[in-house]
Amino acid sequence: METVQRIQDVYRPVDERVKDVKEVERPLTAVEIVAQAGRCSNCGVPFCHGAGCPLGNLVPEFNEAVAAGDIRKGYDIISKTAFFPEFTGRVCPALCESCCTRNLNDDAVMVRQVEKFMIETAFEEGWVSLPTAEPNGKTAAVIGAGPAGLFAAEALRRKGFAVTVYEKHEKPGGLLRYGIPNWKLEKQVIDRRVALLEAAGIKFICNTEIGKDISAEYIHRNFDYTFLAIGTPNARDLKIPGREAEGIYLALDYLHGAEMPDCKDPEKYNAKGKKVLIIGGGDTGNDCVGKAIREGCKSVLQVEFMPKPPETRSPSTPWPDWPYLLRTSYAHHEGGERRWNVSSKQFIVKDGHVAGVEAVRVEWDMSPLGKPLKPNEVPNSTEIIEADLVVLAMGFTGVPAEGLVNDLGLKLTPRTAIIPDPARNIYAVGDCANGASLVVRAMASAKQVVNRLK
Ligand SMILES: Cc1cc2nc3c(=O)[nH]c(=O)nc-3n(C[C@H](O)[C@H](O)[C@H](O)COP(=O)(O)OP(=O)(O)OC[C@H]3O[C@@H](n4cnc5c(N)ncnc54)[C@H](O)[C@@H]3O)c2cc1C
Repeated sequence: METVQRIQDVYRPVDERVKDVKEVERPLTAVEIVAQAGRCSNCGVPFCHGAGCPLGNLVPEFNEAVAAGDIRKGYDIISKTAFFPEFTGRVCPALCESCCTRNLNDDAVMVRQVEKFMIETAFEEGWVSLPTAEPNGKTAAVIGAGPAGLFAAEALRRKGFAVTVYEKHEKPGGLLRYGIPNWKLEKQVIDRRVALLEAAGIKFICNTEIGKDISAEYIHRNFDYTFLAIGTPNARDLKIPGREAEGIYLALDYLHGAEMPDCKDPEKYNAKGKKVLIIGGGDTGNDCVGKAIREGCKSVLQVEFMPKPPETRSPSTPWPDWPYLLRTSYAHHEGGERRWNVSSKQFIVKDGHVAGVEAVRVEWDMSPLGKPLKPNEVPNSTEIIEADLVVLAMGFTGVPAEGLVNDLGLKLTPRTAIIPDPARNIYAVGDCANGASLVVRAMASAKQVVNRLK
């Protein structure tokens, strides 16, 4: 009997997708999904569910239902643990797949695509409805409408709280909307979910920054519970000579700055005809590559300080750990070049505008298991990388120690994450509590904190 292989190419053709901003993945058919779910081994000890999924999704159970053709049952199973499978079904790196048992000597089951198929079928069939809740007479304010805030709000509502969400941007979604590009997650997917949450009774107050438009102390005084879900708004900067030049942007400004209501010059964030340099080799940098290509850049180079990861799982991260290995994203298939071991020393500035970066090569001392330990600059390796648009995609450093954190008299950890104060009913969830991470972890953090409430 022929065994079913994992479908390797789930993307629309490159030529087609770089001409639009629609989702890069093609929808898989019911026949494909049922066959893929059938690859699940239904292991005795399912690592995908235990070690793998921060939300504790019952992966083998829903795979079994879908493999039997019962999508409704699969949807009911995922709904027990996940409130928004349409987000993770699109953008999750699928920690569950990395520790799928099949991944030991074969390809993992396509859990993320099964998840997306179940929820999209549920929406199409009209199965999605939120449970009603008996009011408990208590109020909760959630500050920040990213995935953590949305999850906390819905979890609180299901416990009977009257919930109000405050969001400083024009619309809810956090980095789902103002970080992750449309071609990974179309924004009507967020609107569709927010409409359901509103209809279920959650109140959204947008365009309102707590700590500026309304004091955090006022919120705390007027609600029984205060949940901070403000993300990690501090982007890591590259403070080297020339940083003040025109044409150097933080990744989030490059990705979405032109869409912000107060943006006076959207064109400056457009890469059309420009030589683009992305500094930072992570997922955010990859999305910036995708944007530059869609805008018709002249060239795009992504540089990374760290060494090139191995092509296969490094022994430093044995199964079922999240593997340290080279990842090639959708954007890298679309074009551009990548380089590793590059340390930027100063920006080259001409007439006030960036013209490039002076960089040196580094070589890394490695641990016996292949983990990078210490960088060493290579003598005489200085080079000039030409660029007329530079994007800094080097991660986030946490929450500023002022504003609403100060208003509420809260403290930060050394990693600038908020330390909650449960004695005063103040909680922190998502990236602001745990550091910049993933959508699934942000939601799982909200779930754990709300579940612990009496
Ligand atoms: C470019 C990019 C791509 C990414 N891609 C992925 C991916 O593919 N998969 C993945 O899993 N993760 C991805 N991530 C990470 C993921 O988006 C975050 O981990 C996740 O969004 C964190 O959720 P959060 O709710 O804690 O914070 P956020 O999503 O940052 O939401 C915080 C919200 O709080 C609001 N806020 C802040 N301060 C205030 C205030 N004072 N008053 C009112 N509102 C306030 C903000 O406006 C924002 O809406 C990506 C991140 C970036 C930047």
